[in-house]
Amino acid sequence: MMHRKPPLYMVSPGKVFRADEYDATHLPVFHQIEGLAVDKGLSMAHLKGTLDHLASTLFGDVVTRFRPHYFPFTEPSAELDIQCFACHGNSVGNPELACRVCKSEGWIEWGGCGMVNPRVLQACGVDSAVYTGFAFGMGIERAIMFRNGAPDIREMLESDVRFSRSLLGDAR
Ligand SMILES: [Zn+2]
Repeated sequence: MMHRKPPLYMVSPGKVFRADEYDATHLPVFHQIEGLAVDKGLSMAHLKGTLDHLASTLFGDVVTRFRPHYFPFTEPSAELDIQCFACHGNSVGNPELACRVCKSEGWIEWGGCGMVNPRVLQACGVDSAVYTGFAFGMGIERAIMFRNGAPDIREMLESDVRFSRSLLGDAR
């Protein structure tokens, strides 16, 4: 944003290090794709439509939701959740169907997103009275989980060729 004039549309993959717990859906080192769009007239509806389109292209018929959240560089901000591919939400309030993939919450966080804070645009020399923007970031390992129904994200680090083959075999 500091070196180019809008309209801007970009995605950028990268490795992320975070003090996350190590469990079925979390890794302390993972990969994310960051997306940013800055143009005239962009709204939260464009953000939701873009992410819904990406989700249905990657995963087929899935249910998504925005959950209000706080991030320092976007306002308003949201977490993007996808309905659990393992239990489809049926484990919620039903101990007999306990789901370790979503911890029986029915939803799995895919990423964070929001409208670029106008102060961020201003700091980059973009006129926030003319331009708005949205941004998002989501985990690539999580996307592989959703796409292939892999129940435990940790298997991606264990170099078990049977797991890798199962991902290839199940790829749509
Ligand atoms: Zn579940």
